[in-house]
Amino acid sequence: MDKKDYKIYIIGAGVSGLVAAKTLKEHGFLPVLLEATQSPGGRVKTDTADGVQFDHGFQVLLTDYPQAKKHLDYKALELHYFKPGALIFKDGTTQRIGDPLRDPSSFWPTVKATIGSVKDKFKIYALTRQLKAKSISTIFSDTETTTLAYLKAYGFSDVIIANFFKPFFTGIFLEDTLKTSSRLFEFVFKMFGEGYAALPANGIGAIPAQLAKTVGPLEFETEVSQVHAHKIAIKNGATVEAHAVISTLPVDEKGNIRTQQVTWKSCDNLYFTVHNRTFEEGIIGLVAHKDTFTNNLYYPFGQTFNGDPVLSVTVVKNHEKTQEELIKTVMEELRQHCQIQVKSFLRAYPIKQALPDITNLGMQPNPNSIRNEQGVYLAGDHLLSGSLNAAMASGEAAAEAVVRDFVQD
Ligand SMILES: Cc1cc2nc3c(=O)[nH]c(=O)nc-3n(C[C@H](O)[C@H](O)[C@H](O)COP(=O)(O)OP(=O)(O)OC[C@H]3O[C@@H](n4cnc5c(N)ncnc54)[C@H](O)[C@@H]3O)c2cc1C
Repeated sequence: MDKKDYKIYIIGAGVSGLVAAKTLKEHGFLPVLLEATQSPGGRVKTDTADGVQFDHGFQVLLTDYPQAKKHLDYKALELHYFKPGALIFKDGTTQRIGDPLRDPSSFWPTVKATIGSVKDKFKIYALTRQLKAKSISTIFSDTETTTLAYLKAYGFSDVIIANFFKPFFTGIFLEDTLKTSSRLFEFVFKMFGEGYAALPANGIGAIPAQLAKTVGPLEFETEVSQVHAHKIAIKNGATVEAHAVISTLPVDEKGNIRTQQVTWKSCDNLYFTVHNRTFEEGIIGLVAHKDTFTNNLYYPFGQTFNGDPVLSVTVVKNHEKTQEELIKTVMEELRQHCQIQVKSFLRAYPIKQALPDITNLGMQPNPNSIRNEQGVYLAGDHLLSGSLNAAMASGEAAAEAVVRDFVQD
């Protein structure tokens, strides 16, 4: 049988599903992606309205992600790069911490910053060097602890943890106690140290858009309710026969798609306009107060609305506020802590299912658990850890398992 004649279905056209499809296509197969919504990308989306790009949540591509280097064409994405480090708003002051080796302009601000001791700053440098020499597979096979316990054990002071690590990693892990695995901390810190945080010129949604161009048929508005090794049930009552099925969504023992099986971390992303940019594009601002709702802020590259700069703000704290209350609170915090006077509110994206809240984090799937007991191939970031790299790694590994099984047959 010709490889193209195998009926291979992939459930979900998020990043993991798209990379699974791309990998299968590279091996000569022609898989079909079934997607519940009207567009590819899943959690990675950008809306454009009134000439402004609105990413669904602030997320960045770390350019050193091994999977991203393999599957994406960075040049075509026309990446904008963030400067290493951050601007820290604390007690009415604004301080900068950077990587003077890669951004010499941050040398003096980093030396003078009082957000941590001299010893802390040397330790950041030492950790960066140490993680450069540590392989990703060693990172993910090391014993896990919490990020907070790891930082303390490494000898960082409570001051630098509160002023830098907590706000910075709260925005990445989407939780503010740093209970997330030290493995993910080491991986992300390594990636920040070796590459850059970047955003495509057309917004984060350009990543799945680029992948979608390389893959075969995509069937939108097709919500799958059940998957088995050779059969798929669509919510509208139709069934589809298949030689192989890859599900990028959690599946229970009866074959039902169960996103509720995963515990999710959430965030809110608010967009405003301001009269003038208060700091440069390409720098991430952090509010280092533990009780604020505002975690991080930045000016999206080149984005203006009616000539006024656009500001993106992320709230990580869980809350019961109405949208109106949240906007009011954030505007007040921006005024008080960041000396930013908002001109107008543009949009809010409450993201309830942002990152899977999981332990025993990995970056490469275990080959023995790529198929479930019913014979369905599994992918999705919920199996490894919430990141574009993990989503891509899971999709690639599931596709390679299909290839192995079919080539053997
Ligand atoms: C706010 C936010 C910030 C983030 N920040 C970063 C960051 O800075 N860096 C980073 O590397 N990663 C970040 N991530 C994580 C990254 O976006 C995800 O890990 C990745 O997109 C997950 O891809 P996925 O394919 O596993 O899942 P998803 O993107 O969730 O894809 C699942 C797909 O399945 C579809 N679907 C659902 N149910 C059905 C059904 N029944 N039938 C058919 N289709 C269905 C969905 O519509 C979706 O398209 C962030 C995520 C969010 C939300």
